[in-house]
Amino acid sequence: MQSSTTNQAIVILKQLRQAADEEAKISDRLSRIMKIIAEQMGYDGVSCFVAIDDSYLELFAEYGFNPDAMHKVSLRFGEGLIGSVAKNGRPLALSDAKNHPKYVIKEKLGEEGYNSFLGVPLMRRHRAIGVLVAETKSAHEFSRQEQETLETIAMFLSDVVSSDEMTEYKNNLIKSRGIVTKERIKGLSLSKGYGIGLAVLHRRRHAVTKIFSEDKDKELERLTLAHQQMNDDLEAKFNTTKLGIGEHMDILDAYLMFAQDKGWFKKIADNVLSGLTAEAAVERAYEDMWNRLSATKDNYLKERLHDLRDVSDRLQGYLSGDFGESISVASESKDVIIIAQAMGPAELMDYDYTKIRGLIIEEGTPTMHVAIVAKALNIPVIAKIKGLFDEVKSGELIAVDGNEGYVYLRPSEDTQRKFRQKLEEKERLQAKLAELKDKPSCTLDGVRIGHYINVGLSFDLDYLKSTNCDGIGLYRTEIPFMSSMSMPDVEEQKVYYQELMDKAEDRKVIFRSLDVGSDKLLPYWAGLNEGNPAIGWRSIRITLDRRAILRKQIKAFLEAAAGKELNVMFPMISNLAEFEEAKETLMLELEKEKRFKRPIPKKVNVGLMVEVPSIVFQLDEILEKADFISIGTNDLAQFFFACDRGNPRLTERYDVLSAPFLRMMHTIVKKADKHKVYCSVCGEMASNPIEAMALIGLGYRNLSSSGSTFCRVKSMIRSLRVDDISDYMQLLLNSKNKTLRPQLVAYANDHNIEIF
Ligand code: PEP
Ligand code: MG
Repeated sequence: MQSSTTNQAIVILKQLRQAADEEAKISDRLSRIMKIIAEQMGYDGVSCFVAIDDSYLELFAEYGFNPDAMHKVSLRFGEGLIGSVAKNGRPLALSDAKNHPKYVIKEKLGEEGYNSFLGVPLMRRHRAIGVLVAETKSAHEFSRQEQETLETIAMFLSDVVSSDEMTEYKNNLIKSRGIVTKERIKGLSLSKGYGIGLAVLHRRRHAVTKIFSEDKDKELERLTLAHQQMNDDLEAKFNTTKLGIGEHMDILDAYLMFAQDKGWFKKIADNVLSGLTAEAAVERAYEDMWNRLSATKDNYLKERLHDLRDVSDRLQGYLSGDFGESISVASESKDVIIIAQAMGPAELMDYDYTKIRGLIIEEGTPTMHVAIVAKALNIPVIAKIKGLFDEVKSGELIAVDGNEGYVYLRPSEDTQRKFRQKLEEKERLQAKLAELKDKPSCTLDGVRIGHYINVGLSFDLDYLKSTNCDGIGLYRTEIPFMSSMSMPDVEEQKVYYQELMDKAEDRKVIFRSLDVGSDKLLPYWAGLNEGNPAIGWRSIRITLDRRAILRKQIKAFLEAAAGKELNVMFPMISNLAEFEEAKETLMLELEKEKRFKRPIPKKVNVGLMVEVPSIVFQLDEILEKADFISIGTNDLAQFFFACDRGNPRLTERYDVLSAPFLRMMHTIVKKADKHKVYCSVCGEMASNPIEAMALIGLGYRNLSSSGSTFCRVKSMIRSLRVDDISDYMQLLLNSKNKTLRPQLVAYANDHNIEIF
């Protein structure tokens, strides 16, 4: 039986729907909606505030107050009771509002004489897009039932407020006030490159217009059918060789498993059985999960929420039968820029991605699955541009600069010309870099630099051929661990490593033992909730404490490299004892393999990553025991400067191209040379031409670059003279400047060194 709350909500929603569908101006319909709510619920005043942008709200409709106040009362997010509801995204009920510390009287509204207050946020994509407020003159305790009814009404109202018609009304209002929109907006670049094309607004969110069902069995049938259809289509969509191989495919596979998850389906079915329509049941299941997980700091779980939003939208699309509306728009134009409020990886695949020249997402983090997939498809991605979705119309011209993280709205002729030039330049550059492929990484004065690639995602392996590199200087083994649903066993790991070695043919491969923790979380391990995860229980600290994991991985390395040379290095080593312990574990496994007469590698080299500064002060001892070292400049710089490597606020603050850091790098290579130990750099420094130039000047002769920048670094090497740069670096090591980048760039320009 449906509860009385449900019944009351059904009656009111029916009237509200009729009012929303009336032939009248949107502002009049909103006022009518306010009146219905007030009369049906017995409130003296009801008002609706709409967010103009992310910072302030404005009165758009009222009943029971001063009608002249419309569009004249505004509040900042966080200001007063209404602003607090918007800021916190949570309802607020007060029987005695005037005594609340946040209470501010809005005289223009004619609020004097009102005592009790219930504010409910209108939410869209976890952002408040408005607030619905009910007030009474006499002191009134809002019951739980009343709150629930108002929350259901708010769900309906948020659809009205985010409708196209309302967006247009709001935009016209803003324009009529003479607010000029900017041409260039700064965002966060998640994938580099340039693109120009026509905007396609990615609307996947289907408004849930009907909340309660009349026939549960029929509803369940509808749900089952739509779910089945969706999964059949997804399987067909991902089952194409055009997508190649790589981590993006692991992400898509994981997404499919999610869509087929029985637990998720059961939750929705249970909601249907409680009286909701299938669409509302999907939404409720999403909200439940969001409420539980939204506060998590765990990036993996956060990404799961994006996937869940994506798959929920998709299922709602199938339920309403209008799936694929924006896709046809995209297929008509040759070059498109997709603009989404949020997006899951599978949604991108709904478009013909050969036409996508850019992707702009209002939300977004670097680990976003959709960004990883887009990157694999060479699509520039810019995230964290709030409010763009409402600003742009489908079909308008947009340009995306993924290198600098800028979006250009309706770019001027001049900007368009510059973009076209950049795209042509890029093509020319790519052709030039392709020509370098078969040439060695050798300087003008004949110094051969050992030049390797870093591999993590499986598509990085394609660079083995396209760069013609000397091998793999860093294989980040955690990636297959991160993209599996459970810990891979020895056999699974062995297959992975063997495949990698086969692809590398007889080139050198350096395996790094599992480097998880901090920002690299495993889906099957609960987050640790540490205060300082970057310096917490991570990497070698985990694998030494959970020795079975390390032993299994070493066993897989040894078996995969049978008959070949095996190079294994340990990450995050902080002292000699840790290295010795890790090395001993490897040696014991090797002994075991021998005892069981299993085929073993013809040679085993054991090394470590230098990425914790304490190691630099124990190099003499370490280099006695290590066969090689590789410098992880990303972490080394993070710990050296005490500067979170993932914090965009800090990226410009410290520079690895400064005397203190370079002096440390110089010390390391000098010690390695003294001990005749192979030494390379596998951090980002080796992927950036100007930084790689400085490293060679300091004495480094082995670099491991990312596949995508390898040829740029090679081009720099081939135009460099080692003698000259070595002398110049000695000079710079004494500099007091905060950064030596400008000097090094000037040096490169003066000496015709290619650093594009
Ligand atoms: C580094 O820290 O420089 C490194 C190469 O390792 P990762 O980026 O995988 O932490
Ligand atoms: Mg590291």
